[in-house]
Amino acid sequence: MEKYDVVILGGGNAGMGVTVATRAAGLSVAMVEARDLGGTCPNRGCTPKKVLVAAAHTLDEIARAGTHAIKIEPPRLDWRALIEREKDIIADIPSRLSGLMAKRGVDVIHGEAAFVASNAVRVGTRELEARNIVIATGSKPRPLSIPGAEFMTTSDDVLSDFTLPRAAVFIGGGVIAFELGHVYARAGVEVTILEALPQLLGGFDEDAVAQIRAESERLGIRIHTKAWVKKIERTDGRLRVSFAKDGAECSLDADRAVNCAGRVADVERLNLGAGVIVHREGRIEIDEHLRSRSNPDVYVCGDAVWNSPQLSPIATYEGGVVGRNIVDGPKHRPDYGHIPACLYSIPAVASVGLTEAKARERGLGVKVHLNNMQDWLTARTYAETVAWSKIIVEETTGRILGAHLVGHAGEELIHIFALAMKHTITASQLADMVYGFPTFSADIRNML
Ligand SMILES: Cc1cc2nc3c(=O)[nH]c(=O)nc-3n(C[C@H](O)[C@H](O)[C@H](O)COP(=O)(O)OP(=O)(O)OC[C@H]3O[C@@H](n4cnc5c(N)ncnc54)[C@H](O)[C@@H]3O)c2cc1C
Repeated sequence: MEKYDVVILGGGNAGMGVTVATRAAGLSVAMVEARDLGGTCPNRGCTPKKVLVAAAHTLDEIARAGTHAIKIEPPRLDWRALIEREKDIIADIPSRLSGLMAKRGVDVIHGEAAFVASNAVRVGTRELEARNIVIATGSKPRPLSIPGAEFMTTSDDVLSDFTLPRAAVFIGGGVIAFELGHVYARAGVEVTILEALPQLLGGFDEDAVAQIRAESERLGIRIHTKAWVKKIERTDGRLRVSFAKDGAECSLDADRAVNCAGRVADVERLNLGAGVIVHREGRIEIDEHLRSRSNPDVYVCGDAVWNSPQLSPIATYEGGVVGRNIVDGPKHRPDYGHIPACLYSIPAVASVGLTEAKARERGLGVKVHLNNMQDWLTARTYAETVAWSKIIVEETTGRILGAHLVGHAGEELIHIFALAMKHTITASQLADMVYGFPTFSADIRNML
């Protein structure tokens, strides 16, 4: 039995986050990683996806060249070369992170870990015992129990597929479906999104969702809500996806059916029972310090936490909170209130704080500043197809409670709102700033 102060299961954002405070405090730390260091975000998530989004963004700019009086030949995208570029950009990340962990004094062990006791795990033939064990094993696509589920692919496949399909169906209308759907649509693929619920993009402000839905449909993406996928069959080398909608049986043919029905904590193979860790179908019960309720020596962070947003900065942040709790004793609690979330469709949707519905649900007295900015000078200059904002301000204090933007460089501007919220800069103080002109940021004065 090898002994450590801390053993971290998973070498993604969350696991890396744990190493900062624990190593600074001189604790002995081992990190067990079954695949590539860095986990989903740099290898199969944010970074490779953004390379494709950047290409789609360029195609969008080219499509609008005419409004700037630029004549251009129809562009031709070399999809294979784009995927090669994506792979090239991320290729050295695991080895760079390996160097970082070595410098930080973390023992990285390659292999798959599973609990053998409340304070011990096995990795291959090795057994590791620790005062604290951290579950940072991330998430995986939610398995769907429908006939033909084996024909579905995942976002991992989209990011590695050298062939561009003629038509693709995304099953589930969440962030990944919209982001990859927008990339595919710009690349000329026929895209359909099927969502079982009435609402797309759960968690985002409903009016912002309506804006991006309309823009997606304008691009030719077909979207069905309240559409229950029943089965997938292989017919003539293609896939037939059957679904029920409004009492009718519908079907459509495509070359890919991508599982985008959410992601669940990847904890199934951890032998949680041996670790005395109570869970309901993989949802580990944790307290406000991210400790397992049934085994307080075990912490959970990142996508493996079932009820916090699955975002890489949140995974790193939760890892940091766990690291500090291990060092200082359990006294730090995560606060998600000022962390922005972006949907990298083209244009992007950016959001921080409360949605209007949530603010009203809480009975807060709010003033809602709603702007369609499409006829503003900045939007016209850049020929924006959507430029929309909703800023929610508390009436009595002038505090910003939430900001939601579609287009208009929202994925960058949102950080100004987040900073204002974190440091209690009021709406009138934000409007009082002198901004560089003409910029998207300068429009913040008029959004409030
Ligand atoms: C297609 C896609 C696009 C995304 N885009 C964005 C984005 O633009 N912005 C954003 O903020 N977030 C994005 N995300 C989400 C983001 O990637 C995750 O929230 C983040 O990577 C979670 O980090 P983590 O450390 O919790 O898990 P992971 O990064 O998944 O790391 C977990 C690690 O644990 C390892 N592991 C699992 N089980 C074991 C075991 N038993 N033993 C040892 N190792 C194990 C896995 O191999 C993995 O490397 C995206 C996700 C996807 C899938």
